[in-house]
Amino acid sequence: MRLPKFGPVRFRWTRPLGGAIRNATVSRDGGRWYISFCVEDGEAEAAANGKPPVGVDRGVAVAVATSDGGLDEREFVTAGEAARLKRLQQRLSRSLRVHGRTRGSKRRDATRAQLGRLNARIRARRADFAAQTAVRLVREHGMVAVEDLRIKNMTASAKGSVEQPGRNVRQKAGLNRAILAKRWGGFLLKLEHAARYHGAKIEKVNPAYTSQTCNACKHVASESRKSQAVFRCVACGHQDHADVNAAKNILAAGLAVTGRGDLAAGPSVKRQPPERLAA
Ligand SMILES: [Zn+2]
Repeated sequence: MRLPKFGPVRFRWTRPLGGAIRNATVSRDGGRWYISFCVEDGEAEAAANGKPPVGVDRGVAVAVATSDGGLDEREFVTAGEAARLKRLQQRLSRSLRVHGRTRGSKRRDATRAQLGRLNARIRARRADFAAQTAVRLVREHGMVAVEDLRIKNMTASAKGSVEQPGRNVRQKAGLNRAILAKRWGGFLLKLEHAARYHGAKIEKVNPAYTSQTCNACKHVASESRKSQAVFRCVACGHQDHADVNAAKNILAAGLAVTGRGDLAAGPSVKRQPPERLAA
């Protein structure tokens, strides 16, 4: 393949294209180069698949929780990798302290490259999981209700932090939130793209109080969220995994939207009315 300003480059096909190339993008991640093609596949959007709807919570305790009780718990970083990440980061910051930021150091460059490769591997693993999860969801469901990211960010900044932690802790929490939001945004893009080809509809709902609302009796109380993983309603005693309870509320909100819209008479809504999910 011939690139402007670079000339001919060689690359390895990792998957068939299945369409006419429109354009190509070259990117770099952790010392590896990637080329991606935008293709016109001539496929029209698939007709509604008629499958039951589902709500999805981007779990705090788990990677993805669904309203049907599905919990996809997984670690993307092994214990060994976490230890290695820490070691490399320490080595890097030590060498910055000793040698300063401007003076070159071969060893520092090597550390940085190792760190980059490790981070790229973890990122690729996460992206893989997101892509597979997205396809699975739109294959098995006619409507997928998810949190609207923009609204979440707004409520989070207005509310501030609940536990009022120290300044550093809060900064770190803000950074973590930003990273989580970015990942969730990437997942939503994959989900929306996959939905087009599998006849599913993505419904973005206001996430306010989805984690504090009891799905059984609709009572709202932050005290009902006992921990990262446990929801126990202070009003009715209903208990569920906290992320699954949230996913059920997200589904209910999604159904409330589609109930007024074009899915109102669709089989997916009839098959799984919100009342049934209360149990
Ligand atoms: Zn309740």
